[in-house]
Parts: sequence; C-alpha cells; structure tokens
Amino acid sequence: MINLLDFDQAALAAFFAERGDKPFRAKQALRWIHRGLVDRVEAMTDLAKATREALARDAEIRAPAVVRDSTATDGTRKWLLDVGGANAIEAVYIPEDDRGTLCISSQAGCALDCAFCSTGKQGFNRNLGVAEIIGQLWHANRALLADGTSAPWVEQGRRPVTNVVMMGMGEPLANFDNVVTAMHIMLDDNAYGLSRRRVTLSTAGLVPAIDRLRDACPVALAVSLHAPNDTLRDALVPINRKYPLRELLAACLRYIEKAPRDFVTFEYVMLDHVNDAPDQARELVALVRDVPCKLNLIPFNPFPNTEFSTSSRNRIVAFQKTLQDAGLVATIRKTRGDDIDAACGQLAGRVQDKTRRRAIKLQPVAAP
Ligand code: SAH
Repeated sequence: MINLLDFDQAALAAFFAERGDKPFRAKQALRWIHRGLVDRVEAMTDLAKATREALARDAEIRAPAVVRDSTATDGTRKWLLDVGGANAIEAVYIPEDDRGTLCISSQAGCALDCAFCSTGKQGFNRNLGVAEIIGQLWHANRALLADGTSAPWVEQGRRPVTNVVMMGMGEPLANFDNVVTAMHIMLDDNAYGLSRRRVTLSTAGLVPAIDRLRDACPVALAVSLHAPNDTLRDALVPINRKYPLRELLAACLRYIEKAPRDFVTFEYVMLDHVNDAPDQARELVALVRDVPCKLNLIPFNPFPNTEFSTSSRNRIVAFQKTLQDAGLVATIRKTRGDDIDAACGQLAGRVQDKTRRRAIKLQPVAAP
C-alpha cells in the first residue's frame, strides 16, 4: 500500500503520471491531504469516482498511530507515536500568545550521543520516513482542530500549528532527504504554506549537510553550540571531533547568505559548573564575534541517571548578562510542559538505565 503522506508535490505528480492520471491531480491531492486534512482517499470528492476508487485500492493516508496523548498544565501537548518495531517518537505542541509551535522528531533515537541528552542515551534506531515526519504535523493540526482548540490565530482561520521546529528526537541533518522532502510539504502553498522563517531546523553541527541544506531548503537554522571551545565541545557534543568549531562557524556564515533570517540561533544548554562560568561566557563572546547570531540559553532538563544538573537561575542570568553586555542578543528559553516530560532533551520517555542502548519499548495499548 502506498502512503500518500510520503509524497511532496513533485513525487505526487510522478505518482499520478505513472498511473496514467493527470499531473494536476498532484495539486488537488496535496490540498485534500494537507489543507483539508482528510484521512481517506474517498474524501477527495473532486476526483472522478473511478479515479478515486482505483486510488483507494492502492493508496492510503496514514500517520503514525498515537500511543499516548498528554497535555501539561501550561497547555503544552505531547503525542507519543508508534513508528513500528517497538519504536516510539514524540511530537510536542507549544501554544504561545501569538503562535502555535510544533516540535517534530526526525529519527527514532539518535546516533550523536550528546552527553546531556536523554534521546542520545537511547541510541539510534532508524531514520523516520517522510510520512512519519510530515505525519506529525498533519496529525497535530487534525487533533487540535478536532478538539476545538481555541487560539486567536485559529479564530482568524489559520491552522493551529503556525511554526515548526525540527528539534524533537534525532538529528534532522542525518536524515537529510526525508527531512527536506517533509519540509517542502511544510512550505508548499498547496499544503501547509509555512514561510521559511517559520520552519526552524536545529542541528548538532553536521557541517557538509548544513551546506547542502543551504542549497536544498534554506529554512531558519539553529545550531546546538553548548560550549565555547573545542575541548569542552568534544566532550559534550561528540560530533565536534569530526567537525570542530572553526568549521562549524564557517558553515554558519555560508548558510546566512541564503537563510530566511539574517542570523543563526545558537542553542546553549546551561549545565551547572560545566559550561556556565563567567569566563566561559566571555570565551563564547569571542568565539561567535564574527557570526550574526542570537543565543538561546536552555536550562538543562534533567533525566534519571544523568551526571549533569541545571545551572542556578543566578548563574544563567549572570551568563546572559555577560553576553548582553558584549552586545549579543541572548534569551533564556522558558521550560514548557515539564510536568509531562515534554522539555528539550527529555523526549520519548524517561530512560531508567543510561547504558541502555535501544529505543524505548511500547506497552501494548488499544488503538486510539
Ligand atoms: N539533534 C538536533 C536537535 C535535537 S534537540 C540538535 O542537536 O540540535 C534540540 C535541542 O535540545 C538541542 O539544542 C539539544 O542540544 C537540546 N537538549 C538536548 N538535551 C537537553 C536537555 N537534557 N536539556 C536541555 N536541552 C537539551
């Protein structure tokens, strides 16, 4: 069975052409699936009945099944989604005053093994397919609309999800082709029609893939920096041993030439007495001096058996002040959904044993 969620407009056009159908069907189908959010081929009522029936025999519209659906007291909502083979991924919806952001996963597990990340501790399982990536956005919009979610922008006729961040489980640039195809669907006016500024991809720093992204689909870029020098970054973000800071920052500069925003966002997780000292803030200022950037300080979100703890509020504010005094834009990320473990680096359940090297096992549950 073909899953139509796997196709962007170009792939749909090829699919219909192969079936001897008109290529403009691609646009129609895309609109039904991603604007109409239909889950059945039969619902595409402007296709001829015979076409529809033939299509329904070969194709379906299927997002990963929901295993758990939790809403935090602050309105953050998290879906645990079954992607088969006992693997689960998570998508998190974060409503704010003027936008609804969906944090999307790109892989089941992650191979990069950043020292402070719960997903990394689970090891890598596999890349998600296009349907599993875009299916998170499709599902979130459908579920929120079905539940009658109220937000000013929804009342104005916009979809609940106005922004997407590729910041869930996995390293998006390590699943390049599927992530780019899914982002094409996010940007397509016949689908979600999000502007490139409203889609942000976060990477731990896969330098050659940053260059490829710049040509293939230059959305807003966030880079997980986390350390002001190579020695510390080698320990915290092991991919740094392959692509050290000098190369990473050069790639950021190249990216900005084509980026929808004229800066890169550097994420910096605040680890108590590891990377949060005043000297390190000054070192960071010198490091990023030549790169147009904003810094986003992320208070570390703890998980069981981690060796790290969260920097005190005082240390975070002092760190921020050093950056600001040097003329940098530095914000402190608000932790959202912490009562449902929906915060950065906590996704896909709590891992009890940090030496465990596999994705979490699903409990059997009834179909949603
Ligand atoms: N692989 C991508 C996206 C993953 S996570 C990347 O590395 O950018 C999104 C952000 O959450 C990254 O900046 C990541 O470093 C950060 N993060 C991971 N674990 C965290 C934790 N326990 N507390 C706070 N932030 C964390």
